[in-house]
Amino acid sequence: MTDPRPALIIAGGGLAGGLAALALAKRRPDVDFLLIEQEHAFGGNHIWSFFDSDVAVEDRALLAPLVAAHWDDHDIRFPRRKRRLALGYNSVRSDLLDRELRQRLRPGQYRLGCTIDRLAPDHVIVGGKRIDGGAVIDARGPGPAPGLDLAWQKFVGRTYRYAAPHAVERPVIMDATVDQSDGYRFLYSLPFAADELMIEDTFYSDTPDLDPEALAAGLDQAAAAHGSAKCVEEEIGVLPILLGGDLAALWPDDGIARLGMAGGFFHPTTGYSLPDALANARLLAEQRDLSGPAIARLLRARAERLWDDRHFFQLLNRMLFRAADPRERYRVLEHFYRLPLATIARFYAARLTALDKLRILSGRPPVAVGRALAAMRKQAA
Ligand SMILES: Cc1cc2nc3c(=O)[nH]c(=O)nc-3n(C[C@H](O)[C@H](O)[C@H](O)COP(=O)(O)OP(=O)(O)OC[C@H]3O[C@@H](n4cnc5c(N)ncnc54)[C@H](O)[C@@H]3O)c2cc1C
Repeated sequence: MTDPRPALIIAGGGLAGGLAALALAKRRPDVDFLLIEQEHAFGGNHIWSFFDSDVAVEDRALLAPLVAAHWDDHDIRFPRRKRRLALGYNSVRSDLLDRELRQRLRPGQYRLGCTIDRLAPDHVIVGGKRIDGGAVIDARGPGPAPGLDLAWQKFVGRTYRYAAPHAVERPVIMDATVDQSDGYRFLYSLPFAADELMIEDTFYSDTPDLDPEALAAGLDQAAAAHGSAKCVEEEIGVLPILLGGDLAALWPDDGIARLGMAGGFFHPTTGYSLPDALANARLLAEQRDLSGPAIARLLRARAERLWDDRHFFQLLNRMLFRAADPRERYRVLEHFYRLPLATIARFYAARLTALDKLRILSGRPPVAVGRALAAMRKQAA
């Protein structure tokens, strides 16, 4: 008799769970898995963006059907620095992830509209019923992480439809020539089409509080600078920026494997998780041993390694948040953007070399040296 249990249950069909399921469906058709999502579509209502250099060449094919927009270059703007960077930028849309998953997965490989009440290493409980699996992966997205020292990247983004072409030709990843009262603040714009533009008002802030209504009016005003437009979509995000803490806050000793934000797989300075989710999806599909303990060990070890490798970003984050007054934080980024393009690309890909780190810290610091050194030394204030 064949085992009726799926070898793998993936809890949560968002970015990380969805990419893992796609990688398995494509590269390991022999693996019987079940992807469970509480909503009636995969991925929520999201736009996930990334730089070309964030993604390994061998992972691009998996992502290609999900990419809704690509631009060859992008701009940044600060009070004393403007620059065009020849680094490509891309946006993935969740409706394309949803479509791809429905096309690639067999009907028995996913369940939508099913809320998981509880997880264990070998089963999940859905609506009071137990579903057994050889292994369970928690990919239910960000959760509480007491014990982590966090700041926040928070934003409201609005997509506008224009009556006539808006003439914005390329993404503006950071326009920090705006008021800086609540920490480092910038506008982020993505021209999805000649008549469609997304603008986000983003704050690097000490608190996660956000007043979307108050920000909407300012966004409408920024949109109106490019012509007559109406808002057709809105997104709100509050992403963690890691200042310090122990990964064990996210990985208790419960034998459950984790992917995505649930496993701490995100860039410590941007809170973005797409590159890690993609790399992890491939890693998972490459494994011969997909038993629960083996996967939990594998992903935990990877999370620990990335956590250690990325310590430098925690240090930079502390410098940004603890050594600079909110109104002056933009200077740290303005200073950063003097660097060679390759260093900037590796910064966003979280793959800095020793030389990159030296370059980032060299030159006249944009913040008080004493405070910078204290912030770099301290784990928490
Ligand atoms: C508005 C916004 C914009 C962002 N933009 C970017 C970006 O441009 N680039 C980037 O790299 N990162 C971005 N991020 C950060 C991060 O990459 C995303 O949050 C990403 O979606 C995290 O992936 P994930 O799979 O961990 O969680 P999610 O994508 O949130 O997926 C978790 C899934 O689990 C499901 N779920 C939760 N609980 C249960 C349950 N009990 N039972 C069943 N299902 C459950 C949820 O419905 C959801 O579909 C953004 C985040 C936000 C909020």
